Amino acid sequence: MKNYKIETKCVQAGHTPGNGEPRQIPIIQSTTFKYATSEDMGKLFDLEASGYFYSRLQNPTCDAVAAKICALEGGSAAMLLSSGQAANFFAIFNIANAGDHVVSSASIYGGTFNLFSVTMKKMGIDFTFISPDSTEDEIRAAFRPNTKALFGETIANPALTVIDIEKFASVAHEKGVPFIIDNTFATPVNCRPIEFGADIVTHSTTKYMDGHGSAVGGCIVDSGNFDWMAHKEKFPGLCTPDESYHGITYAEKFGKEGAFIYKATAQLMRDFGSTPAPQSAYLLNLGLESLHVRMDRHCLNAMKVAEFLETHEMIAWVNYPGLESSKYYPLVEKYMPKGTCGVVSFGVKGGRAAAEKFMKSLKIAAIETHVADARSCCLHPASSTHRQMSDEELSAAGIPADLVRFSCGIENYEDLIADISEALEAVKAGN
Ligand SMILES: *Cc1c(COP(=O)(O)O)cnc(C)c1O
Repeated sequence: MKNYKIETKCVQAGHTPGNGEPRQIPIIQSTTFKYATSEDMGKLFDLEASGYFYSRLQNPTCDAVAAKICALEGGSAAMLLSSGQAANFFAIFNIANAGDHVVSSASIYGGTFNLFSVTMKKMGIDFTFISPDSTEDEIRAAFRPNTKALFGETIANPALTVIDIEKFASVAHEKGVPFIIDNTFATPVNCRPIEFGADIVTHSTTKYMDGHGSAVGGCIVDSGNFDWMAHKEKFPGLCTPDESYHGITYAEKFGKEGAFIYKATAQLMRDFGSTPAPQSAYLLNLGLESLHVRMDRHCLNAMKVAEFLETHEMIAWVNYPGLESSKYYPLVEKYMPKGTCGVVSFGVKGGRAAAEKFMKSLKIAAIETHVADARSCCLHPASSTHRQMSDEELSAAGIPADLVRFSCGIENYEDLIADISEALEAVKAGN
């Protein structure tokens, strides 16, 4: 699959049926797998042989879909998880323990921010949050001797900031730690962070990859490029024997290419069980088959909507990284020249009340907390997810009271613009 273009990989990678075998990925709806002798199964338990024994750890349907995403990102190994939250948790917890520290962009998904700043902090892992626009020196300054990873989002949800992947990766490498990047919004169709030096890529597959609002899921892809053994003292979990696995040293046994995913599967999946259902993996694969087609349309629609909004008298401001007026446009040209994502945020003149009125008047876009769906949807954080906050608190958090997050689906953009236009007229007329 390596030499095919991304569109061909979206359709074909991960599953190569033999003669007379099903063309579609079979849904292996089985928790367990049968063996002739205990010795056969023992080899699997010892990680001496590869194969399946219990679907909490691995399932062939899930693995086929993980292999497709691995091919899309250009990685060496990948695993599916039950959600994007599980993916980011595993990606960090696989290399950071109590007493360790991680540097993260502050511009990240709210759920990830809570995971890091509240729940993982309770587990003894400390995070320092920095601006996604930090200079190299500012990134360096956040590091401590016990820092184990640098984390950011390619295009952040919901702030739509774009990260300078090469800059973040180079500081991480200078400090001897991997750069972990959540590539949910750009998807590998628009940006492949590994090509720019990222070491581990995570996804909430719930968004564009599934794309139809049908299954929550996550994925971790390892680039296979980070040399754990060269930084042995920082990563004892990968570089010293695992007593819970008969003294296996992951980085020795599976090399740079396999150690991270093997350890996350063998230890974390074993102990936390954040396993996706094979049915969900099957649905995810259906989404992946059209990811490249849908991303083109999401981006076209978002660009048209953003351009329309930029010229509208009722709109105070528009934030879309694909616009030439965006301060992130130079980074977009470098890292995602084909397009960014389908999400546009903007302010409706008249603040909170005007934004609420605008949303109520929309007919095509539904009000949802979801994004990245084939169907357009939108959210006004100040009157829903963040309604407990005052206007002042909202602006301090970078979510002004007038902000509407609009996720452009794959409908016809003229219809979307007409719908938005009518809703803005309703706000203007005050009825
Ligand atoms: C939604 C989202 C997540 C969390 O994913 P779930 O599948 O909802 O658990 C993580 N990162 C980003 C960028 C997201 O948009």
